[in-house]
Amino acid sequence: MQNVQEIFGSMVFNLKVMQEKLPKDTFKTLKKTIEDGTPLELDVANQVAHAMKEWAIEKGATHYTHWFQPLTGITAEKHESFIVPTDDGGVIMSLSGKELIRGEPDASSFPSGGRRATFEARGYTVWDPTAYAFVKEHSLCIPTAFCSYTGEALDKKTPLLRSMESISKQSVRILRMFGNRTVKRVASSIGAEQEYFLIDEALYERRKDLKVCGRTLFGSKPPKGQEMDDQYYGALKTRVSAYMEDLNTELWKLGIPAKTEHNEAAPAQHEMAPIYTLSNVAADQNQLTMEIMKKVAARHKLVCLLHEKPFAGVNGSGKHNNWSIQTNEGENLMDPGKTPRKNAQFLLFLTAVIKAVDENQDLLRISVASAGNDLRLGASEAPPAIISIYLGEELEAVLESIKDGTPYNEASNQKMTIGVDVLPAIPKDTTDRNRTSPFAFTGNKFEFRSVGSSLSISGPATTLNAIVTDSLKTFADELEGSKNFNADLQNLIKREITAHWKIIFNGNGYDANWLKEANRRGLMNLKSLPDAIAEYLKPKNIKLYTRTGVYSEIEMRGHYEVKIEKYCQVLNIETETMLEMIRKDILPAAFKYMKEISTAAAAVKNLVKSAECKAETALIKALDILTDDLMEKAENLDAVHLEAKKLTGIESAKFYAAKVIPAMTEARAAADKIEPLIAEEFKPFPSYEDLLFHI
Ligand code: ADP
Ligand code: MG
Repeated sequence: MQNVQEIFGSMVFNLKVMQEKLPKDTFKTLKKTIEDGTPLELDVANQVAHAMKEWAIEKGATHYTHWFQPLTGITAEKHESFIVPTDDGGVIMSLSGKELIRGEPDASSFPSGGRRATFEARGYTVWDPTAYAFVKEHSLCIPTAFCSYTGEALDKKTPLLRSMESISKQSVRILRMFGNRTVKRVASSIGAEQEYFLIDEALYERRKDLKVCGRTLFGSKPPKGQEMDDQYYGALKTRVSAYMEDLNTELWKLGIPAKTEHNEAAPAQHEMAPIYTLSNVAADQNQLTMEIMKKVAARHKLVCLLHEKPFAGVNGSGKHNNWSIQTNEGENLMDPGKTPRKNAQFLLFLTAVIKAVDENQDLLRISVASAGNDLRLGASEAPPAIISIYLGEELEAVLESIKDGTPYNEASNQKMTIGVDVLPAIPKDTTDRNRTSPFAFTGNKFEFRSVGSSLSISGPATTLNAIVTDSLKTFADELEGSKNFNADLQNLIKREITAHWKIIFNGNGYDANWLKEANRRGLMNLKSLPDAIAEYLKPKNIKLYTRTGVYSEIEMRGHYEVKIEKYCQVLNIETETMLEMIRKDILPAAFKYMKEISTAAAAVKNLVKSAECKAETALIKALDILTDDLMEKAENLDAVHLEAKKLTGIESAKFYAAKVIPAMTEARAAADKIEPLIAEEFKPFPSYEDLLFHI
């Protein structure tokens, strides 16, 4: 085992390295830029660029790249070598301040939602000095924001940074009302637990669906799935353990604080959780984590699947986003705290979150919507598509007493009055094992569990920050300058909790009754991406995002198009892969096996005149019926798919959800009935059992 302290962050141009490599004054200026966002002069940038390049070369880099996060949800990089030719036919290695600060990749092939015609598709990448540069393989990666030349964001990072700015501003206003004169900034933090599957590479290679779609489109249930619950937290298999060791090392080198690793509930499923950090840094780190998970897997002849639902019938993968906001003085505003003053403040922030989530169920749902995640949400192992908040019994009791004016706890007979000095300490709820809630308070943070395993966390983080900002702003506008702060605060909290009580649900989110109850409460149930995205451009949502300065209306219209387009593309690819596998793999395998049986039966009859060959006949009859059925289902899928392709935009997406997905489900069901009847040596590709239990 290597020395972790030594390797941690060894590939990162972090503060420690900056201090070492930069002249004192330059370091000071840069630090100020990082901490306060002051603009950087070109001569300072030149010095930083030079130091960065020298350091990167020491680490083996020959190239640099502006590293950014376009709307595809993955990262993009275009590598330029450091070389500049000299007169004498040689080269020098150079990186200028200008090159560090700004890049101009040809942006025409990145999704923008039809915002830019190709001729004006110029995009700029702009250095984000608040995120550290790092060396990956042979390149110095410079984290950047990506925008159009009219200044619109074309990436996921810019809006996230804006949302962090706006939540900081409104939170500071609230803190001032509680008497804090010193706090400068409030930052939102995320700890993203990443779930994934590991399967054998050789088996993966034989599955077209996994290679093309990242998930299986067929596969009958194996005799053993996850029902024995013997995988969760189970001892790691040797190959998996070696993978995790290697993964940790690579992540640590990049300064990613990989902390927890364990087996997850489904066979072949695992989880890695890093220590939480600033949302934008966490987003960068999560993107890198996903990339490195895949690369390290290849070294171990494994494949890492990040899809939300790689296998039907066993748990899918999510990415719990643990979210909180903290002051630059180190106070976690989601921590109930021990003193009454902190409690009142905490309750106001908590109320802001409750209001935000209730009023913006649609935006939260949209932020996690994708074709892949739709397969996971609402299956009985992931939070339902309905957004609600879990608070835990104790906190709910506290809020109930405020709402109803009833005693908080029978024994003390004390009513909850929120005042800056009267509120009793809130007992910290340590009993959260409710895994069914999409949005759960877990002691000193909220856990947004609906995020899908393959999604960038930037979207959900931006949404959370924006909606909470909006509530905080309303509260600050109302309470600022209040003559009777305690009473006004009490009234506001009581009023808001009452208005948004319906979003609180501590029960079992997997229970079928919850659907009915949620419906009765008037909560939204946006089952699919088309259902959800149809709500996106409502005036309420455009107002919220523009008011908080997080997205412009043009950007929102772009996202709307991009989300729909991607959804249709994914389903288009899945349908075509499915049809191909039915026609080229599954049916031919069945026919070959049927021929084998017939030949065998004929031979038997030839030998033993009295043989009835009942088993052979029955099997062939069964396969004949099932293959006919599969053929019919495939034809039907083909037909509805053609219909879907004739439509455009949301109409097409809706048609995919309403007609194509059910046709896919039917075709799959038909194929999955054939699979168990086919002899091992005739099966067209590895089965679930092979894939899930073979490492
Ligand atoms: P569990 O599986 O019980 O939810 P984990 O330890 O797997 O717990 O994950 C918890 C995650 O929450 C970690 O990434 C951790 O760093 C993060 N976390 C802890 N405290 C906070 C906080 N105040 N804000 C944001 N994330 C936090
Ligand atoms: Mg968790």
